Amino acid sequence: MKKLIKAVLIILVIELASMSCLILYFAYGAQGNGDVYYEAYHETDIATKPAAQDKRTYNIEAEVEVAGNKIRVTEDIFFDTRKDKLELYIPSANAAETKIGQVVSDGKVTKVARQEALMEIQLENAWDSVRISYEILPGSTGSTIIYKDGDYYLTNFLITPAVYKDGKPVHTIKKGFGDPYIYEINNYHVTFKTENHLKAYAPGGKKEQTSDDYKITTFEASNIRDFPAVLIAGADVHSEKLGNVNLHFINSREAGEHVKEAFSFATANIGEYPYDDFYVVKAPISISGMEFSNMIFISPDSFSSSARLKRISYHEVLHQWFYGIIGTDQLNEPFFDEGLVDYLAAYLSNSKVKEWKNRDFKKPLKDYNSKSEYYELAYYDSSAYFHTIHQKLGNNFYRVLKDIYNDWKFKILYFDDFQKYVSKY
Ligand SMILES: [Zn+2]
Repeated sequence: MKKLIKAVLIILVIELASMSCLILYFAYGAQGNGDVYYEAYHETDIATKPAAQDKRTYNIEAEVEVAGNKIRVTEDIFFDTRKDKLELYIPSANAAETKIGQVVSDGKVTKVARQEALMEIQLENAWDSVRISYEILPGSTGSTIIYKDGDYYLTNFLITPAVYKDGKPVHTIKKGFGDPYIYEINNYHVTFKTENHLKAYAPGGKKEQTSDDYKITTFEASNIRDFPAVLIAGADVHSEKLGNVNLHFINSREAGEHVKEAFSFATANIGEYPYDDFYVVKAPISISGMEFSNMIFISPDSFSSSARLKRISYHEVLHQWFYGIIGTDQLNEPFFDEGLVDYLAAYLSNSKVKEWKNRDFKKPLKDYNSKSEYYELAYYDSSAYFHTIHQKLGNNFYRVLKDIYNDWKFKILYFDDFQKYVSKY
């Protein structure tokens, strides 16, 4: 008898509980919101979401002519609004001598002021476009703008509009280490005039036209940050599909498995790769690897061991998500750009990450005194910091990454914004 009473009581409690769930459901449902359960359990914090003005897109059209050790560019930059003061970056100045020629605009240019990798143009009347002609003289090795054995490796080479944060332009600097680049989202229409035997690889849709004397290759790429291009002859090119993405390995097919592992990891744990193509290029750079929009460079040295190739491939592929799809401020927060991807690369390769000893790694690029200090803090200490965040959040760490992807795709995420997401869990 006692058993029967107990059973009835249990049924009653279950009934009551499900009733209250239903009551809750209807109470929320009455507000006319279909996502009641999601809203109830996953509170959306408005403060973490980007404002509408946080996304800017610019259109850039460039004609690039390469001949020997000279790259001549004529570029039209279209702004989102008319302004009488245009602030621009000259990223190529960090890696190669860059000579600015004519600057013209229908707003009538009254002043051009240049400070290394920065340029300010004053107009008599506010206007929304400017045409700049310039010449880049690449080095033969080392930097990321290279002319070697007749091949061209052109990265961070087109002039781009400055990024604004809190209404002020973020200033770029020239620096011997680190990546002193920051980009909003740009749409590019770029035409290369080259010798016939060169083949061009770059983001976006491609069209080729060959005449007896030269070749014209045009690229149309949307929603990317920088525009990298490789113009080479006789490369070993291997292409294959991963999901909907075409992976292209240019003299780099040994990196294939590692690239695919990192790509799958990022797609599953952060979000979709929103482009059709991705290029992996073995390039004669002096650093181990470097990321660009839709493309990575891996140095010949990095192919020396499989473990090293794996770690570099993971790191650079993960930058497609943090730097590329979700923008970062590599000038003021290089530790965020490098630390997060370095941690994810270490995690994915089961490498040991050291404990974070509360040492302050949060410096702007200009304040790191040496390359070794930069790597020590912005990579290793910062990576250790993200390791502690992952330990603290457990699987919610990936929820943070996914939420960020959904909210900040094609915008620039600053470290403060990241911390707001972490503090929600
Ligand atoms: Zn990096």
